[in-house]
Amino acid sequence: MLAAMTEQQPTESRRTRAARRAGEFPPVPEPLPIPVIDSHTHLDITLAEAAAPPWNGRLDDPVAAAVSVAARVGVDRLVQVGVDVASSRWGAELARRQPAVLATVALHPNEAPRLTDLDEALREIESLAAEDRVRGIGETGMDFFRTGDEGRAAQEASFRAHIAIAKRYAKPLVIHDRDAHADVLRILDSEGAPETVVLHCFSGDAEFAAECVRRGYLLSFAGTVTFGNAAGLREAARVTPPDQILVETDAPYLTPMPHRGRPNASYLIPLTVRSLAETTGADLDELCAAISATGDRVFGPW
Ligand SMILES: [Zn+2]
Repeated sequence: MLAAMTEQQPTESRRTRAARRAGEFPPVPEPLPIPVIDSHTHLDITLAEAAAPPWNGRLDDPVAAAVSVAARVGVDRLVQVGVDVASSRWGAELARRQPAVLATVALHPNEAPRLTDLDEALREIESLAAEDRVRGIGETGMDFFRTGDEGRAAQEASFRAHIAIAKRYAKPLVIHDRDAHADVLRILDSEGAPETVVLHCFSGDAEFAAECVRRGYLLSFAGTVTFGNAAGLREAARVTPPDQILVETDAPYLTPMPHRGRPNASYLIPLTVRSLAETTGADLDELCAAISATGDRVFGPW
């Protein structure tokens, strides 16, 4: 989470000012030649943490403003991802009234172990899963980075339940996998994977990517693919066919370079797509067209 921004004081030091600026949203980048989708965003969290978003002119409807600034640079469709019952309800409601937004619903793998009544929360998620503009079940999965041994059983039970919901409603499964590649595959195999599986914020190496590609899964690349220390991730992108690639912000987190550390939002997708084109040697127009078609195939129609 980003620290709350304080009002600028006339006496603030240069260093304080620099720190505050670092929390501001980056400038709007050059538009993409062909519109793409942001396959994974958290508009609710982004707006709650927004210090000085570039859509400040439309504070009457910040969601519509965030959607329109993204559309201006060629990010004209977004997938709003739920992490708990409240955010899943919020996303489903938003998708009903905002044509550019579709929703996915789930209990985040770090959220599930904290719930006093996991079954009741899962029933809520299942009732939202039935909605037409809810087009995926996620983010669910396994996270061994933030959840310790004591939470693992609940995390796995929740993941298994989400897999079952995705299959019952024939909707894509959006997976959060942090330091848990082998266990994610083990659980998918034991439950039987749904027809469409998306690995959100893909974080594996080329070998894991090749295994996911072989299984027909979609790999969604986030701003992390632009980071200097992400050579393994770029190798993973190179072994992924264009029709299994998605891009995402995971906003407000994982802001692409050169703005790493600042808040993220869907209008920054062009930085990730350009970097991905450079990494894979793909023609930018062709990559955009492929991402757009894959997004429609997986989540669409909008
Ligand atoms: Zn996320």
